[in-house]
Amino acid sequence: MGSSPSKFSIDLKQLAPGFQQRRFSGRDVGFDAFIWRGAQPGPVLLLNGATHGDEYEGPTLLRQWAEHWRPKNLRGTVVMVPVLNEGAFYAGLRSNPADDVNLARAFPGDSRGSVTQRLAHLFDTQLLAQVTHYVDLHSAGRAYELLPWTGFITHEKSINRAQRSMAACFDAFWCWDGPFLPGRTLSAAHARKIAAIYVECRGTGDVDSRDLRNLDRGLRHLLASLEIIPTKRSAKLRAQVQRTTKDADEAHLQIHHPAPHDGLFVPAAKVGAQVRRGQVLGTVHALDKIGTTKVRAERSGRIVMWRIQRSVRQGDALCTLAPI
Ligand SMILES: [Zn+2]
Repeated sequence: MGSSPSKFSIDLKQLAPGFQQRRFSGRDVGFDAFIWRGAQPGPVLLLNGATHGDEYEGPTLLRQWAEHWRPKNLRGTVVMVPVLNEGAFYAGLRSNPADDVNLARAFPGDSRGSVTQRLAHLFDTQLLAQVTHYVDLHSAGRAYELLPWTGFITHEKSINRAQRSMAACFDAFWCWDGPFLPGRTLSAAHARKIAAIYVECRGTGDVDSRDLRNLDRGLRHLLASLEIIPTKRSAKLRAQVQRTTKDADEAHLQIHHPAPHDGLFVPAAKVGAQVRRGQVLGTVHALDKIGTTKVRAERSGRIVMWRIQRSVRQGDALCTLAPI
């Protein structure tokens, strides 16, 4: 009598202990995963980078770990996907130009949909469905800079507790948690009751060495906190600035301070600055006429995301403020 066939094309439970590389693939979509399987049972932790193709901190960190990390006495399983959205990554863009669908709005995806919808479906049903803990590594991308944070979608009590403790491991980042928004990787994790967090790095199309160090420190803390790697004593974590919001729009980054029209954005502030409601954040200059339009702060708070690409189209978000 054999065991019943797995619903997964790559069943993590059936992999031999040790380090290995596997490719998850569906119709014209796929991604490479590096997998560490412990001899002891334990949590199944998944991390990925490049959900958006112009964010390089996650891919850089996860590639470093894949090259060098060969642990002994691992408990459970760790899966790292340095680049989830290959089409967007090779184009150097947030979304895959083949369908221009934002992967972070496409979940849970559709096996018969566009290329990005098929990728979301593959990731959700073939990999996310097998894990207990999930970290999605993002950043501001090429056009923005942000004040690095971690965060999660608030859930029921026990999952919130697990998410809070995962986020606390990334102790160089401030923490922002809020209500459910549809379509995200974390929305899919939410539906599956998987403890899941984002970590958001600075962006600007580059990789800041401070971010890489802080990510690395956070990942080590997380592996110890989940007892995937043995530790002698619990780590001393720095206290985090924390903000929990019930307003789904607060952390919806694409809707705040939209450019009033196409043109050239001339900033009058920078990321990290405290500003007052009504303060001028910058001006937008239309290309075809003299005169400028001022962009004023919607509320008082700290600039946590900031437009650095100076060409703007009407509606492009210029700034996000958080009350921290
Ligand atoms: Zn992103």
